[in-house]
Amino acid sequence: MVKRKIEKEIKIVQKGDTVLREQAQVVPLAEIKTAKIQKIIANMKTALKSQLDGVAIAAPQIGVPLRIFIVSRRVEIITKGLENLSAEETDKLIDPVYINPEIKKVSRLKKQLDEGCLSVRYLYGQVERAEKATVTAYDENGKKFTKGGSGLLAQIFQHETDHLNGILFIDKAKNIKEVLPEVAKS
Ligand code: ZN
Repeated sequence: MVKRKIEKEIKIVQKGDTVLREQAQVVPLAEIKTAKIQKIIANMKTALKSQLDGVAIAAPQIGVPLRIFIVSRRVEIITKGLENLSAEETDKLIDPVYINPEIKKVSRLKKQLDEGCLSVRYLYGQVERAEKATVTAYDENGKKFTKGGSGLLAQIFQHETDHLNGILFIDKAKNIKEVLPEVAKS
């Protein structure tokens, strides 16, 4: 018998919604462990998991104007080539939470990278991003950390920080095209 966890569907807001254009608010550190913030984090994880192509999500994308983003475990799977992990091992990976993230350093080297967004369905384009970026943030337990990333992770840091400042990738992208997913084409 298969036991299925019933997860409530969390709506991902789309471009045109004003919450995506707001400057998101700093989360007071004393509130990180409150039920309110933990619930927002849980909802963000649910929303991210529901999108098969999602690699990260920012709180404004579920309608919450706070400075939080979450990187999917899929990024670790993609960047470390862990596609053959069992479902059980995949379940042990975590979706890192970044609260009040700040980009502290970026590489001078920039690249034009393909980009899309869960809130800008289904447009894609090329955006110039720094190849490497370092952020500081607080995790879901309120512990401060520093994380450096290159490639996809650095791109995510920049895309998600833009969300927290009311910026969408289409504001910066070139060669914007609509690419409908296979299911939506039929
Ligand atoms: Zn996005």
